[in-house]
Amino acid sequence: MPSIGSAPAQMLLQSNRERLCRVFNETYDPARWGDWRWQLRHRLTSLDHLEAYLELSDHERLGLSMGVERFAVSVTPHFAALMNPHDPADPIRRQVVPTADEFNVSRGDMEDPCGEDHASAVEGLVHRYPDRVLLLALDTCASYCRYCTRSRLVSQGSLDPLPRRMTDILDYLRAHTEVRDVLLSGGDPLLMSDDRLDALLSSLREIEHIEFLRIGTRVPGFLPQRITPELVAVLRRHRVWLSLHFSHPAELTPEVAAACDLLADGGIPLGSQTVLLRGINDDAEVLKQLFHGLLKIRVRPYYLYQADPVVGTAHLRTSIAKGIEIMSQLRGHTSGYAVPTYVVDAPGGGGKIPVQPETVVGRDGDAWQLRNWAGMTYSYIDPQEMG
Ligand SMILES: *Cc1c(COP(=O)(O)O)cnc(C)c1O
Repeated sequence: MPSIGSAPAQMLLQSNRERLCRVFNETYDPARWGDWRWQLRHRLTSLDHLEAYLELSDHERLGLSMGVERFAVSVTPHFAALMNPHDPADPIRRQVVPTADEFNVSRGDMEDPCGEDHASAVEGLVHRYPDRVLLLALDTCASYCRYCTRSRLVSQGSLDPLPRRMTDILDYLRAHTEVRDVLLSGGDPLLMSDDRLDALLSSLREIEHIEFLRIGTRVPGFLPQRITPELVAVLRRHRVWLSLHFSHPAELTPEVAAACDLLADGGIPLGSQTVLLRGINDDAEVLKQLFHGLLKIRVRPYYLYQADPVVGTAHLRTSIAKGIEIMSQLRGHTSGYAVPTYVVDAPGGGGKIPVQPETVVGRDGDAWQLRNWAGMTYSYIDPQEMG
């Protein structure tokens, strides 16, 4: 696909937008396109929608005709417009359009790989680490990533609505004074209305020992129109940090850059999380482009995740050896700010475990043998105890 911003890319993007509007018997209108409610109402959610937009492969058609009940399909027009309609291997398309590969079960696959259900203190509240909790706010997203770690919950309507859970959640958090950090995720919390989000954040901020609030969201990438000055004001008022989710440099469009600018100008610290995906971003050059692109829009790459072994996602995963090799091609070769921490979220509920290329290659008493980014070995002698 031609690179973003080039004239051929602009032409393809415009023709995709027009094609997408025709799926719904509408004509392209920039004002409607830029309205996040219009985007949500015009998501591609069925075989018929996707068939009308893309040249589907048999593999995709089979996945779409069988898979939609297990884990919903949904793609915002914004995200769909970045696809190549003629190429099933397109890295944007493979993230959100299912294939028949989702019916394959691989060794080690699990429904709940991170053991979240088991670690739930209250429904939708995972307290795994000593001082922080994960709060699952909603079970819907703007679009559904086929490699989702929470496909067992998300899109299924199996999570009780937040207002019904809120009393128990707040009671738990008030009683657990060791919790200083609440991570809101889901589902995508930024799909809540400004008022509901404001109310949720206010009730958390009223708990004195909670110092740090952050939201995990893919809305800036799937639905950048949702990032409005009003939303930024809510996030700013409650001093929220955001962890965004991006997989591929083609996602960093001018609309996404504008959304991140609005957030960064509003004082919202921005980090990003990326899942390592076979044939989509399991390549040091692609990831470097992504991480450099993120730094340009003031987003600091935070985590690179080894893909969780969710049932039916083996075709999207790659090996840990590949991940380590990619990390060795990043660290030292580019700005440290552009290098996230590579982690495996331990299957069975052990939490995130960082995995790195070996740098401590030997030790002889107080002498440490360390290998640098270029593969050369250096020695560091520990300080002597002074008498
Ligand atoms: C990822 C995660 C967190 C946050 O971990 P950090 O390393 O602090 O970003 C907290 N709780 C759960 C259950 C998580 O999966």
